[in-house]
Amino acid sequence: MSSSISFDLSSSDPSPNDSKFGPRVAKLMIRKITIDTPGILACTSRGVVPHLSRDNVIRTKGIRWIHVPFESFLEHKPPVPTFQPQQGQSPRINSFLRFSEDDYLLSVSLRDPGDGRKMPANTNTFVTANCIRGVRKVTPNDWRSYMIPCNPDIVFSLSDIPLTPPPYSQKRLTKSIERSALWLADILRPSESISDTRNARPNPSNVFVQMAGSASAPARSAFADSLVEILHSQEAIAIQPLKCLDEGVAGYVFDMVPLRLALKGVGDVSPDSLTFKSLFQASLSALPRNKPRLVTSVRGPHETLRLIRDVGIDLFDTHWAQQAANFGVALDFSFPTPSTGSGKRDLGHNLYDAMYTRDFTSIMGTRDTIPPTSCLCAACSPYSTPSSEIISHSSVDGHSIGSDSPSPPYTKAFLHHLLHTHEMSAYSLLVMHNITVMDAFFAGIRDLIPQNGTSLFQAEIQRFFETYVEDTDRDNTTGGDESSNVFKAGEKAWAEVELLRGKGRLTRESEKEKAESAAAANEVLKKEMKEKGVEGGSEAALTVPLAPDGDIVVG
Ligand SMILES: [Zn+2]
Repeated sequence: MSSSISFDLSSSDPSPNDSKFGPRVAKLMIRKITIDTPGILACTSRGVVPHLSRDNVIRTKGIRWIHVPFESFLEHKPPVPTFQPQQGQSPRINSFLRFSEDDYLLSVSLRDPGDGRKMPANTNTFVTANCIRGVRKVTPNDWRSYMIPCNPDIVFSLSDIPLTPPPYSQKRLTKSIERSALWLADILRPSESISDTRNARPNPSNVFVQMAGSASAPARSAFADSLVEILHSQEAIAIQPLKCLDEGVAGYVFDMVPLRLALKGVGDVSPDSLTFKSLFQASLSALPRNKPRLVTSVRGPHETLRLIRDVGIDLFDTHWAQQAANFGVALDFSFPTPSTGSGKRDLGHNLYDAMYTRDFTSIMGTRDTIPPTSCLCAACSPYSTPSSEIISHSSVDGHSIGSDSPSPPYTKAFLHHLLHTHEMSAYSLLVMHNITVMDAFFAGIRDLIPQNGTSLFQAEIQRFFETYVEDTDRDNTTGGDESSNVFKAGEKAWAEVELLRGKGRLTRESEKEKAESAAAANEVLKKEMKEKGVEGGSEAALTVPLAPDGDIVVG
C-alpha cells in the first residue's frame, strides 16, 4: 500500500476574513518527501523532463514533483509501464521511470494538460487520448487497471473535459458533470477481484479530481456539490466505506487549456482574471479548505500571483517556463521585486536576439546590477567536476589543482551562440535555469504570505505588476504589439533558426549560396560594365543565368 498524502496548512491564517480563498502556505508530505506550497511541479513527455538528462534533473533542485501524462504510453495495450515487476512495495511507475522514490513525487494523468489540440468527443464509456500512433479510447475500467499496477503517488481521475470546438450546450455540460462524477466513483471503488487484493492495494491511492463544469459557474458549483453529496443505495454501496466522493479525493485540479478554449465559446465573457477567479471560486466554495489545489498551464507569474491571491491555489506546473526555454527565452525576474532601474521590464531575455551576440554578462545579471542576481541553476552557477573525478587519459590531460572551485556563469553571448548553432545544450541550460527561477519565485511568495497578514504580499504583487510586462496571450494574434513581447519574438526567431538548420537544410543552404553568388557575380559585372562605360549594362547584368549545376554562366 503506498503512503497517503498529508497536507498541513500553516496554522497562522493570514486572511481570516476570506479564509476559504486567501493566499495560504502549506506543506504537502508523502513518504519522506515534503513539497512546500505554493510550489511547482515539472512537466514531462513520456516520463522525461524535456531536454534534461537524469543528472541534469538531479542538479535542478526545483524539480521534486514530476507530472507524467500517461497517454504517450498508450501505443501498446496494455501499456508498457504496467508490466514492471514489483520491487518490494515501491511505487512501480517511479522505478520504471527511474525517479528515486526518496527524492521525487510522481503524479499521473491520462491527458497532457498542456495539449489543447482538438480531440474527438468523449462518450459515456470512454475518453479519447493522444499517443504517437494516433487517438486511443480509454475506458474508466482501463484507466483503473493501468493505475493499480503503476501505483503512482498521485492519480488524476478521468474527467469528461471537452476539447471539441466550443461553445458547449447546457446538455453537454450536464453530461460532462455526470460522467466526471461517475468515473471518479469508479476509481474510488474498492476492488473485488482476487488479483487486485493480492497486491494489497485495493484502489489507487491519492486521487486528485479534475474539476468539471467548463466556463459555467453554476455547472462548476453543481459538480462540486455532487462531490460532497452523501450517496445512497447502489451508488453508496459501490464506494463503501466512503460516504461521499469527496472523502476519497486528495486534491483538486484546474486545467487552464480547456478552460480558455471553453471561454472562447462564451460570447459575453472575457478570459480575464476576474472570470477565472469567479469560476474557480464556484468550484471550491462547497469543498473543504484543507486539500491541495493545483492549476496546470498558467501563463506566467502574473497569472500565478493573481490565482494565489484570489483563489488560494497551492500548486502550479512549470509548463510556461519550460515552453519559454523551448523558444530560447531565459527568464529573469524575482519576487519580491528587486528595486533596480526604472520603467517596465520584460520577464526574460530572448537570447536569439542579435543584441546578445556580445553580451558577456550572466543570464540574470545586467551591466547595471553588480553583483548580478544570484541564481543557483547549472547555467548561472556551474560547478566544475572535482579533480578526483576527472579521468586522466595521458599527461596531456593534466588538470591544475583547484579545478573544483566554482566556475564562472555561462554568458548570454554563449547561449546566443548555442541557440543559433542548434546545440541541444542551449535548451538544457535554459530549462534548468527557468525552472530554478520559478522555484525561487515561489520561495519568495512563501516567505511573504505569512508576514503581516496579506497586506505586504498584496503590496509586493502590485509592485511586481508595475515592474514587469505580462506575457500576454500568445495565441491571441490581434492584441498587443508582437515585437514588444520577448516570448513571441523568441518563438519567431526559434522558428526561423529551426527552418534554417532543420530538415531540408542542405537544399536551402545551397539555394541561398547560389542566390548569393549570383548576386555577387552581378555586382562584379555591373562594376566592369560601368568602368567600360556600357550603356544600360547594369540592367543586362541583373539577369545572370545559372547553369543546372549552380555555376554561373557568363558571356
Ligand atoms: Zn540560472
